[in-house]
Amino acid sequence: MDYFPIFLKLRNQHCLVVGGGDVATRKVASLLAAGADVTLVSTDLASQLAEWAMEGKIVFVPRKFVSTDLCGKRLVIAATSDSTLNQQIFREAEAIGVLANVVDDPDACRFITPAIVDRSPLMIAISSGGKAPVLSRLLRQKIETLVPAAYGRLALFAGNLRARVKSRITSLGERRRFWESVLDGPISEKVFNGQDREAKALFDASLQQVQNRGQSQGEVFLVGAGPGDPELLTLKALRLMQQADVVLYDNLVSKQVLDLVRRDAKRISVAKKKGCHTASQADINSQLIRLAREGNRVCRLKGGDPFVFGRGGEELSALAEAHVPFQVVPGISAANGCAAYAGIPLTHRDYADSVAFITGHRKNNGDLDIPWSSLVNDRQTLVFYMGLSSLPLICAQLQSHGLRHDTPAAAVQQGTSEDQRLVVSRLNNLAAEVNEAQLRSPTLIIIGQVVQLAEKLHWFGDPAITSRQTGDISGGHLPEAIPIIAHAHSFSNNQLAIDA
Ligand code: SAH
Repeated sequence: MDYFPIFLKLRNQHCLVVGGGDVATRKVASLLAAGADVTLVSTDLASQLAEWAMEGKIVFVPRKFVSTDLCGKRLVIAATSDSTLNQQIFREAEAIGVLANVVDDPDACRFITPAIVDRSPLMIAISSGGKAPVLSRLLRQKIETLVPAAYGRLALFAGNLRARVKSRITSLGERRRFWESVLDGPISEKVFNGQDREAKALFDASLQQVQNRGQSQGEVFLVGAGPGDPELLTLKALRLMQQADVVLYDNLVSKQVLDLVRRDAKRISVAKKKGCHTASQADINSQLIRLAREGNRVCRLKGGDPFVFGRGGEELSALAEAHVPFQVVPGISAANGCAAYAGIPLTHRDYADSVAFITGHRKNNGDLDIPWSSLVNDRQTLVFYMGLSSLPLICAQLQSHGLRHDTPAAAVQQGTSEDQRLVVSRLNNLAAEVNEAQLRSPTLIIIGQVVQLAEKLHWFGDPAITSRQTGDISGGHLPEAIPIIAHAHSFSNNQLAIDA
């Protein structure tokens, strides 16, 4: 963030504008709209400015700028066509702590003025940090069409009742929920329709209702955050993330997804440390219960889908036993996300009739408790979660139980994110190649005939580079020693770079 956004209260404050042309006119107009006392110093004067001077709306000083003009001013806007003079005004203002803005010269600005959507008292300010003012204006046009003119009236309506609500509802969370129901429901509709009296009656009734009810029980939203790409969130996930008072999130939840949580929600990381799962899980359960009982809407945000190796069932059992209400929002699991972004269909009429999701997480004694024989089926796709560290064991066990050594096999690191890396190989080589490529967690393993479609169906990145490196892998001609390692460096230009 290059600029700290603030709104200045300028009513009756002395402000200086230097320059008398069209730009100065626009700046003076904004300052007057904010109630500022404007002094204008200029040797020439556009007609509108002259009119305001005549009407006494501004103080006009018909001469060149002198340093003492800055004395006692809150801010100055330099809008002359003389860049040397503008720079001088900036330097002198800086020296005595007066906020300065030189029009069209971002380097000579202590503050910049945003494009605004004015629904006073509601004000939306947009800034590109001086980089692309036209973009800000385009965005403003879009927002203009989205925000009804009556929002200003709604803000006034709310403003008049704010103190009363604050004294009647003491809990911050409760108060926010009350306002959300007022501002997005039948009461606001009445205000939009100009029926202020009816709106006020409804408002009084619902305030009374909240007071009679006392402190309400909160709720837990168990939300699947998907595998990484924020666009893979469901609409419901986004809506509940925007409503939450508190968010408890895992380390698998991507930063971009976390950025979509309501801005003032409290964020609590509950990343589980390796080796102390049980203790921290119990701790998470009790945190969820405590926060909901305090009246919060708690969003428990989990990577992928909460019911796929996500311990969602355990957390909900604890909530159910504590009689805490909850909702569950499914998410796109790593298997679906990685498969889609790696171009590997999990089932396919020609290659696989079933798919199995398996955990590769070892028990405390280091063993993998997996019924290997039941997995050995050439027409079944195997997806291993948490299988990176036990990959050599997984591949060895599958082969020793009869799965062909040349079964196509892939590993997807950070699937669906801009850091996605993909290794495509065969069962007997995958572990070595993943090791060589130094894939890190989170990585998903996909084993089965469907993996041979990865080259043909590759879309996330540049398939041409992949095929040059590997030759044709369709039809089972995958060269055993050459892994495809695709690293999607960039979402934006869809480039795929080969790492090895
Ligand atoms: N509930 C999650 C899974 C949690 S278990 C889901 O439905 O996706 C954690 C494992 O999921 C990781 O070890 C890894 O195997 C896999 N995983 C999660 N996100 C992933 C991603 N973006 N790319 C690759 N693997 C991922």
